[in-house]
Amino acid sequence: MINPDAELILEISDLHASVDDQPILKGVDLKIHAGEIHAVMGRNGSGKSTLSKVLAGHPSYKVSKGKVLFRGEDLLVLEPEVRARIGVFLGFQYPVEIPGVSNLEFLRVSTNSRRKQLEVEELDPFAFEELVRSRLNLLQMDPIFLERSVNEGFSGGEKKRNEILQMALLEPIFSILDETDSGLDIDALRIVAAGVNELSKKETAILLITHYQRLLNEITPDYVHVMGFGKILRTGGSELALELEKSGYEWLEEESVSPLRP
Ligand code: ADP
Ligand code: MG
Repeated sequence: MINPDAELILEISDLHASVDDQPILKGVDLKIHAGEIHAVMGRNGSGKSTLSKVLAGHPSYKVSKGKVLFRGEDLLVLEPEVRARIGVFLGFQYPVEIPGVSNLEFLRVSTNSRRKQLEVEELDPFAFEELVRSRLNLLQMDPIFLERSVNEGFSGGEKKRNEILQMALLEPIFSILDETDSGLDIDALRIVAAGVNELSKKETAILLITHYQRLLNEITPDYVHVMGFGKILRTGGSELALELEKSGYEWLEEESVSPLRP
């Protein structure tokens, strides 16, 4: 829902970033308001995951220029765990396995750290288990996944559901979901999409990175952005995703090639 009075949640200006001294982002501009769902599409290697990792504060990604404000505050100076605590959530394209750490305990510690920030009471293991079980229902996840080590031996689809479970518990202000739809069969996709829709609120914003229209059939974005050459080449409404599905990315890239582009 586009609301002209909505809070500006994220403002990215002229963001440049590199990994291993290789420039990847070359001037990204993006504004996201409360209540909005933005989709980011683009070819493999166009920098979508790089953008998400820079926003989450991954230490291998160096920002060389530009600004990112989260609710008006400089996000880039904050440690990754502080970003998570204040409500920035990244659902990874490739969720990490953490052998030896119980999923339940991991979720409880991260949820309590967020709750502390929000000044709501922290939950003891019993109270937390109750909360987590209600959230498991939302994602139709088997409670057995709580007993296991974080993501260890989970299938691709189970890992993605576990990411959304984390999101459901942390109640972030701004969530970035990096290809949460990849590796999901159609039933799992619908469950994940229903979870995301349920968690989308007028005070929160979501950035969905995806390749596929099939996710956008379930979650309607307010804006669709296409990345290429380290920038956002084009922004449109949900119809842009349909156009891309029909015609691919080439026409857009050709239009974007100007004599000024280095
Ligand atoms: P996308 O998510 O759009 O497919 P990425 O952001 O993952 O694209 O990658 C953009 C470019 O950055 C690619 O050329 C990729 O090889 C490079 N890249 C990303 N992460 C690393 C890394 N850790 N080390 C070296 N190169 C990287
Ligand atoms: Mg990626």
